[in-house]
Amino acid sequence: MPELPEVETIVRQLRARGVEGREIRSVQINWLRTVEPLSAAAFSRQLRETVIEQISRTGKWILFHLSSGKTIMIHLRMSGSFSTEKGSHDRVVLQLSDGLTLYYRDTRKFGRWKLVDDPQQILGKLGPDALTRQFTLNYFSEAMLRRHRMIKPLLLDQSIVAGLGNIYVDEALWESKLNPERRSDSLSKDELAVLFKAIKHVLRIGVKNRGTSLGDGKTNYRDVEGESGGYRVKVKAYGRAGQPCSRCKNALEKIIVAQRGTTICPVCQQHSSQD
Ligand SMILES: [Zn+2]
Repeated sequence: MPELPEVETIVRQLRARGVEGREIRSVQINWLRTVEPLSAAAFSRQLRETVIEQISRTGKWILFHLSSGKTIMIHLRMSGSFSTEKGSHDRVVLQLSDGLTLYYRDTRKFGRWKLVDDPQQILGKLGPDALTRQFTLNYFSEAMLRRHRMIKPLLLDQSIVAGLGNIYVDEALWESKLNPERRSDSLSKDELAVLFKAIKHVLRIGVKNRGTSLGDGKTNYRDVEGESGGYRVKVKAYGRAGQPCSRCKNALEKIIVAQRGTTICPVCQQHSSQD
């Protein structure tokens, strides 16, 4: 599932492909449930002859800001991706001015395109984006200490911090040597600072490497160029159960935390004695 670095990579590539500034000439919707809240016909009508003025990202949302004042908010969920080449599983096709066609591909069909008047209706419910200045150590510490939950589900909760998913949470926890089941209010000031830094670090490295793709399945993340993300080689924990920890050489283990598959080093990421 695309997380902040994968979505950021896609946004940068859409800009590089010159999607910004083009007019939408026609809209083809092949899977009706991809678009909300309007019918496919009404959705298409509202998009036609508007210009995609700007593309931005908040958390895992991609925003197409239209000249009509409305915004298309796109969430890729499990397997959404974009291409400028026709493929199979294309759910939405936008014919743009000057001959560019944008294909939204989604094998598993969970992705959504929402046409909204005000993106704040949705973004207002999110915590700060993890790579923005609004996401500060003070905010993060306060948010963690005020709650009494396990760390991992809190980090996955988009209303606390937006952009993280299973991959980068496992990476940040491994990096900070913290057990994902630790209670958020048991973290010391130092541990919070280390975790905060690790979150920013793994996300920045992820963006730099154009995201992460694991496995070779059809639903696997692909960027706009059809390439897998380069972060795969950098992954220290996620998806590496059974392989040696690159810090202590013990075998990494897969456990379940809050219903999510989680990879940890059982030596580096022990529960601390005060738990
Ligand atoms: Zn280890």
